[in-house]
Amino acid sequence: MKNTDRKKIALLSSKNPKSHAVMNELWTKLKEAHFILTPKNPDIVISIGGDGMLLSAFHKYEAIMDRVRFVGIHTGHLGFYTDYRDFEVDKLVENLKLDTGARVSYPILHVRVKMMNGREIVMRALNEATIKRLSKTMVADVFINKVPFERFRGDGISVSTPTGSTAYNKSLGGAVLHPTIEALQIAEVASLNNRVYRTLGSSIVVPKKDKIVIEPKHDDRYSVSIDNRTFVYDNIEQIEYQIDNSKIHFLATPSHTSFWNRVKDAFIGEVE
Ligand code: NAP
Ligand code: MN
Repeated sequence: MKNTDRKKIALLSSKNPKSHAVMNELWTKLKEAHFILTPKNPDIVISIGGDGMLLSAFHKYEAIMDRVRFVGIHTGHLGFYTDYRDFEVDKLVENLKLDTGARVSYPILHVRVKMMNGREIVMRALNEATIKRLSKTMVADVFINKVPFERFRGDGISVSTPTGSTAYNKSLGGAVLHPTIEALQIAEVASLNNRVYRTLGSSIVVPKKDKIVIEPKHDDRYSVSIDNRTFVYDNIEQIEYQIDNSKIHFLATPSHTSFWNRVKDAFIGEVE
């Protein structure tokens, strides 16, 4: 094999000892198979741990996500972003040797935070973006494609991707979306609903190209959580949400577990 043909692989592991052991084993076996192991400009990123670890791996490499493929090895229970179990290291190495570049891709969320001073911050989320007011009830206008849809009062609002629909969105009572459906979901966090204040109450699924805008009504401090990270801003004018032009790519693998099996495994288990 020519040096330029050799694939570059980055390995990332969560802190637990089991994940570390898997990383060491994988490191040795990938070296033996003549892959280049490097955190710089990888072709493939292997995340060892749970879904949370894959979120970290995504954000570490989000700047080059167009040319990277991710693979997850789960060292706990079956996850949503992970395809291999910890005892399947040999199978993964074999599949990597046979790999022809096949991939499966899922939508991610493009978030644009516009500040009152004109500054704009663009971020991308793999699971969701959640806005909450820190001190009091959040009051915010929600626009869907410039339609002033509702005035929200409550703890906050989450906008999730299809793959994020099984995460925080589900705890908020949102629907589980198959990840091939290109849509975003708005879920309310404890909305105030009475004779005076009114929101739709149910979560809303918005198609590709549609733009969601949330405009907080008070000049105050807000937390904006993007997956596993939280930022605090004190002069948000509005936040725009859309499906990003880029997608996250995963290594297409024969070991891919069907989405409905994952949902069943995570939330239902075996029925007697
Ligand atoms: P964490 O608080 O340590 O873990 C949150 C849990 O969510 C973990 O069990 C994680 O799985 C799981 N998870 C992550 N992505 C998922 C997905 N797409 N579908 C189903 N489950 C998923 O935080 P973390 O590991 O850094 O993950 C951050 C995520 O936690 C956020 O994006 C948000 O979705 C979620 N979260 C949920 C709640 C809630 O449900 N009330 C509150 C805050 C945040 P693993 O154990 O495999 O890592
Ligand atoms: Mn976790």
